[in-house]
Amino acid sequence: MIHTVYFSLGSNLGNREENLEKAVQLLEKRAGKLISRSAFYYSEPWGFESENGFVNICIALECEADPMELLDITQETEKEIGRMKKSADGVYSDRLIDIDILLIDDLIIREERLTVPHPLMEKRAFVLEPLAEIAPNLQHPVLLKNIAELTKLLTN
Ligand code: ATP
Ligand code: CA
Ligand code: CA
Repeated sequence: MIHTVYFSLGSNLGNREENLEKAVQLLEKRAGKLISRSAFYYSEPWGFESENGFVNICIALECEADPMELLDITQETEKEIGRMKKSADGVYSDRLIDIDILLIDDLIIREERLTVPHPLMEKRAFVLEPLAEIAPNLQHPVLLKNIAELTKLLTN
């Protein structure tokens, strides 16, 4: 089955735009056809202190892989680009690349390794703003609001 999958990608170390570029290319090769892609968005670190600002983008791919395979692909790709550390219990650190799965069609997944929709997406401007650029009318299957509406509800 073909899924439409929205990803958030971020980098705050090294050549950030190049890291994102590389990740998009690898995901296209491994996960499926690229159907849309946002501009680069620049922001301060969220949830931790660092002097290194972030660059983020959102992309949509048409994927044949099932959700767990997709998570494996994103994690392999992160490793290949040089991501070292995992975040645990909301403790974040600088990273060359982070690839999060935001939405997979209107699926709701709550497994130990994978929660979809991504549980913090509606709190993060650096996720919602690029996503609203490429998919303003996309409905969040749990919150039952579209991405443009969620973006307006951001508080800071
Ligand atoms: P956050 O999830 O708050 O953005 P992070 O991206 O820094 O934090 P990571 O270290 O990249 O966190 O990932 C931690 C774990 O999150 C991964 O090992 C993965 O199993 C799990 N995970 C759960 N849901 C998702 C999802 N939708 N997309 C990517 N990873 C997920
Ligand atoms: Ca993340
Ligand atoms: Ca992640």
